[in-house]
Amino acid sequence: MTHAEFHRRSIDDPQGFWGEQAALIDWQTPPAQILDYSNPPFRKWFVGGTTNLCHNAVDRHLAARADQAAIQYLSSETGEARSYTYAELHREVNRCAAVLRHLGVKKGERVVIYMPMVAEAVFCMLACARLGAVHSVVFGGFAAHNLALRIDDAKPCLLICADAGMRGGKPVPYKHLVDAAIKEAKFPPPKVLIVDRGLDADMRLVPGRDEDYWDLRDDFRDAEVPVTWLEANEPSYILYTSGTTGKPKGVQRDVGGYAVALAASMKYIYGAGDGKGAGEAMFTTSDIGWVVGHSYIVYGPLIHGMTTIVYEGLPIKPDAGIWWRIVQEHKVTTMFSSPTAIRVLKKQDPEWLKKYDISSLRYLFIAGEPLDEPTSRWISDGLGVPVIDHYWQTETGWAMLTLLPGIEMKPVRFGSPGFPAYGFNIRVVNELTGADCGPNEKGVLAVVPPLPPGCLTTVWGDDDRFVNSYFGQFKDLLYSSSDWALRDADGYFFILGRTDDVINTAGHRLGTREIEEALQAHPGIAEVAVVGVADELKGQVPIGFCTVKDVSRIADAAGREQMAQECIAKVAELLGAVAKPHRLYFVNSLPKTRSGKLLRRSIQALAEGRETGDLSTLDDPNSLEEIRKAVGR
Ligand code: ATP
Ligand code: MG
Repeated sequence: MTHAEFHRRSIDDPQGFWGEQAALIDWQTPPAQILDYSNPPFRKWFVGGTTNLCHNAVDRHLAARADQAAIQYLSSETGEARSYTYAELHREVNRCAAVLRHLGVKKGERVVIYMPMVAEAVFCMLACARLGAVHSVVFGGFAAHNLALRIDDAKPCLLICADAGMRGGKPVPYKHLVDAAIKEAKFPPPKVLIVDRGLDADMRLVPGRDEDYWDLRDDFRDAEVPVTWLEANEPSYILYTSGTTGKPKGVQRDVGGYAVALAASMKYIYGAGDGKGAGEAMFTTSDIGWVVGHSYIVYGPLIHGMTTIVYEGLPIKPDAGIWWRIVQEHKVTTMFSSPTAIRVLKKQDPEWLKKYDISSLRYLFIAGEPLDEPTSRWISDGLGVPVIDHYWQTETGWAMLTLLPGIEMKPVRFGSPGFPAYGFNIRVVNELTGADCGPNEKGVLAVVPPLPPGCLTTVWGDDDRFVNSYFGQFKDLLYSSSDWALRDADGYFFILGRTDDVINTAGHRLGTREIEEALQAHPGIAEVAVVGVADELKGQVPIGFCTVKDVSRIADAAGREQMAQECIAKVAELLGAVAKPHRLYFVNSLPKTRSGKLLRRSIQALAEGRETGDLSTLDDPNSLEEIRKAVGR
């Protein structure tokens, strides 16, 4: 079957298509109805079916592969390395579930998990799923205030944290931030469970509120906690969008649809065999705090019966070969990373890509941000492995645009995340009229509902916000991705940036992404950010910030000027004079969120002399200081 035929079938006959995919997971009671779309844009998949994510990720594999590794945990920060078979994972999850139950966690209750990349974080997620509780993992890089906002929205009965994480060899306190967040929160959880890693000697437990995980785990060493079966549409978790734009939304996910969507994606998208999983390992270099971590560090590979790598550490510590050493050691078959991380590696010696035996690796998947062509070529040439860019959002839970190696591997086209994934009826539409765009015409990427299984079911506690933020832009009921896209004559899609990242210069509308791509075509450029700043004459003009591969080229003013001229000429050549950045600044690093997304709004604010706004997700404050200095604020 071709990609196109597979996709067509999923759109023409969603009930038949997803009814078949439902067999990829275990059901306690099979669904009575595959799709209920009587209340658009809300939809219910697998109505009446009862199942459980923890059962599908853990228990159901015990018969066939109790002794196969389920989790390989390693930290290049602490030097720890631990392996858990499916039997051991089952044991740990039962202990953990017993601890949570003891602390009052029940079906439907929320549990906030604020943890670094440790195996216990995965146990806690699975334990919540086992009990039918709703977890909300908050990324460990968020500051106390953001944690407090999320606590107040989710109103958890329990918060689970570690004493500390480690990043670049330095402890990062978690428990201190939890104390501060709880002080600020209006709905503080009555209980806090602490997984003490022994990294913070000053940590103090609050009597009556704080509990020690290791003590309680001892009390429940042999506990067996039965799975709580949930109706397919009951909530499994809340995950707040990373908040690159505006106030975070609590993306609510279901149980049955999510399990089926992930199981299917492992097979068709990640090409991970036929659901047997043995001998397959997935290494996703994200964090459990992001959707990529939920879907492809935790649930996806485990539902498929694979081994998943849980890695705490940077891609370049102890050296830039660490990832490839992990691939060699654990015979990783599928890898998933982000453009930002690859660009970090690109600044290192390419010899690291050749140092280890990575012959087990079939594909490297990339998502999260636009993958520019030079970076894509660099990594695919360096590794000799197909690099598959795919596009998705926290909201969708799995890929909307992708190639499907498990069905038909279409040729990679650099800069394109491929074609619509089965289940997603995708259109590119005019932002004002909602009319379909022609080939190579830029518009908003939209999805004709019903959204397929796995996508958000609503915004936690706010159905109106779900309808208005995602389905309110067009007069026909269409899901707006808020991203610009185009489809070329062969059907390949290209993402052109977010709809709020547009520069309006002298009546021309330019995507910041297009200008960034053009700058990146200069071989000396490593990373770029382009923003529009107010201009009396033209409305807005683009200005750019770049990092270079070889800093000796910009060591003096003449070098900088030369480099800037070359880059600006490149933009004029590729996009025309109208797109030429009015100014280019060279910096050592660009301000990004901890998930590696450029903080364009903050850069733009500084460039226009405004306040930067919420910086809680900012990774490295120095990078923003550099921008401030560059623009003379
Ligand atoms: P918020 O919605 O709160 O502003 P966010 O959109 O940054 O946060 P995510 O859901 O993690 O949070 O990111 C999804 C967005 O990332 C997409 O809408 C798109 O802009 C970008 N993106 C993801 N994958 C790709 C890709 N392969 N190519 C281009 N852009 C991508
Ligand atoms: Mg978004």
